[in-house]
Amino acid sequence: MTEFVPASRVTRIKSSPSVAAAGRVRELKAEGRRILDLTVGEPDFDTPANIKEAAIAAVRNGETRYTAVAGTPALQAAIIHSMESRTGVRYTPDRITIGGGAKQVIFTAFMASLGEGDEVVIPAPYWVSYPDMVLANEGTPVIVECGEDAGFKLTPESLAAALTDRSKWLILNTPSNPTGAVYTAEELRGLARVLADFPQVHVLTDEIYDEIYFGTERPACLLRVAPELDGRVLMVNGVSKSYAMTGWRLGYAVGPKPVIAAINKLQSQISSCPSSVSQAAAAEALIGDQTFVLESRDVYRSRRDIAVAGLNAIDGLACRTPDGAFYAYVNCAGVVGKTTPDGAVISNDEDFTMYLLDSASVAVIQGSAYGVGPYFRISYATSVEVINEALAAIEKSVMALS
Ligand code: PMP
Repeated sequence: MTEFVPASRVTRIKSSPSVAAAGRVRELKAEGRRILDLTVGEPDFDTPANIKEAAIAAVRNGETRYTAVAGTPALQAAIIHSMESRTGVRYTPDRITIGGGAKQVIFTAFMASLGEGDEVVIPAPYWVSYPDMVLANEGTPVIVECGEDAGFKLTPESLAAALTDRSKWLILNTPSNPTGAVYTAEELRGLARVLADFPQVHVLTDEIYDEIYFGTERPACLLRVAPELDGRVLMVNGVSKSYAMTGWRLGYAVGPKPVIAAINKLQSQISSCPSSVSQAAAAEALIGDQTFVLESRDVYRSRRDIAVAGLNAIDGLACRTPDGAFYAYVNCAGVVGKTTPDGAVISNDEDFTMYLLDSASVAVIQGSAYGVGPYFRISYATSVEVINEALAAIEKSVMALS
């Protein structure tokens, strides 16, 4: 048989650790084990009825064909409306790209812009996919560790130290996966001041969690606080998280015309266009009734409060209160070095997450996957019952350590 040799871009990268964790949980469940699953990176709600109805109507109306590469006029109009209220910028259709999820949009943006030697500054903890997406597209990830003392956020000093004349992109993800950190307007202004000295650098702001926040105001938006960056910010968003539409695979970005044109040119050869039915659904999500967004935010907030209080009550664990998204990033330095009842030493966050899975049947993701340990990420996009049961099980397992 002929040996298959994958491309170097495949061997350079790893599969997504969060997708792998979800797969492991599925396997264990299939073996009959009851797993308290805190790995899930998607809302546990169903897509709101008005959105489903819009999709059904689109199917009935025969909206079942290819659309323009850059999306339907209806979804473009909805994005223009939604982005204008967010940024203050009135985008034109040639500044919009719509793809099969924010993930695909980000990947295509890197494919459209990176060449060998191009650097992408990625603050850590980071969403697991960024470094591998950069590597897959010949770029060089430049990881900047942002410690807990800095609220897991990039500071102007660390940004200035990371930028070089080879820097092509800075990635900012606010609210953050995995930490839930949200940049304030003042913090973004500080970063914008540094960027003023590096005019060749574009900024990819991943704001997919911008509707899931727990302060009184929507998270600050880089373009709103630094409108002078308009010519170099690619602002990525999507409907997966805010509208519980992960399976619909629809994300979008607004940005400078040349960047968008390059992305859309590639998309014309990759997928032709995103799903017509999902586009109809997304248009309804953005301009239709927003009750779901408000109600789900309150639900996430109360779950966050329960999860954070419970984790901080466990001796050896500590957790900052996240300001957005549906994750908490838990410091487990207090359990590293301890010994399990079986005599194994917990030497890092990976050992600890394995121990939790074995002893407590609680699935979480090790911080090393996000570039900063010893931590683990929990998702509270699950029921209060599961959260409470998991907290009790984690506490019992931690107490069994010596
Ligand atoms: N960015 C971040 C930070 C995410 O957490 C995710 C989903 N896990 C995405 C982008 C991708 O979202 P989607 O492709 O579903 O739109």
